[in-house]
Amino acid sequence: MSKSLSGKTALITGSTSGIGLAYAKALAGEGANIVINGFGDPDAIETERVGLEALSGAKALYCGHDLTKVDQIEAMMKQAADMFGGVDILINNAGMQHVAPVEEFPIDKWDLIIALNLNAAFHTSRLAIPYMKSKKWGRIIQTASAHSLVASPFKSAYVTAKHGLAGFTKTVALEVATDGITANCISPGYVWTPLVENQIPDTMKARNMTRDQVMNDVLLAGQPTKEFVTAEQVAATALFLCSDAAANITGANLSIDGGWTAQ
Ligand code: NAD
Repeated sequence: MSKSLSGKTALITGSTSGIGLAYAKALAGEGANIVINGFGDPDAIETERVGLEALSGAKALYCGHDLTKVDQIEAMMKQAADMFGGVDILINNAGMQHVAPVEEFPIDKWDLIIALNLNAAFHTSRLAIPYMKSKKWGRIIQTASAHSLVASPFKSAYVTAKHGLAGFTKTVALEVATDGITANCISPGYVWTPLVENQIPDTMKARNMTRDQVMNDVLLAGQPTKEFVTAEQVAATALFLCSDAAANITGANLSIDGGWTAQ
């Protein structure tokens, strides 16, 4: 039986763990070729890659490029195009975080976060759009964040990058509106992934709190449901955005944040 994304190719940046891996599994489940990207243990990544092929019955390619570097982004997009002809579904998901007051924020961390969380989405998009236009079909999805809509202290680079990503996405949506291509942000609240787990020690330091206080008084404090969002819930939304039913959803910023930004 043909699946809804058979014959399509999805490239998901930062998909060796967390939300990105959940996207990869969801889209593979609908038969798409998958390009995964990110860092991690080579054996674990190969196991995931083989698992994606088993799920999709199609191909999965791993690209370990560092997306803070423009030449590496170009190399990844070329590798994907050489293997699959081009990318039909682009999910810009790779991201990193650093938690510190502005006056102490390390300059190299600021530059890396802007490069990965914002600039990389510009570069992948500019390289993916010509093929999408030629096919008269495409989906560009950004993992933005509740922090594309509201701020939190000590996350200046991240909040800046995510607000920028939201503006970039609206602009792209307008530019490609008559080409069968949609561009949208998905904005999760807190999802329990390594990115969140890793920021707990710095947040404990920046706010002089215990681990439990960070979990309850910082992370879940603003999330009215008092639950972490799951990566699978985020991935299910991306799958919907890839469907024909979502063809007129473009330039949107879809919150999945347990009510955080409704307040
Ligand atoms: P994660 O740390 O589990 O995954 C990050 C991925 O990015 C990994 O695959 C990692 O290897 C990859 N990566 C890191 N640096 C890279 C680089 N230089 N080049 C290429 N890949 C790189 O984190 P996650 O929570 O799954 O985050 C995924 C996205 O979701 C990020 O953009 C993040 O900002 C966003 N987000 C996360 C949450 C949350 O609560 N977890 C909430 C809102 C938005």
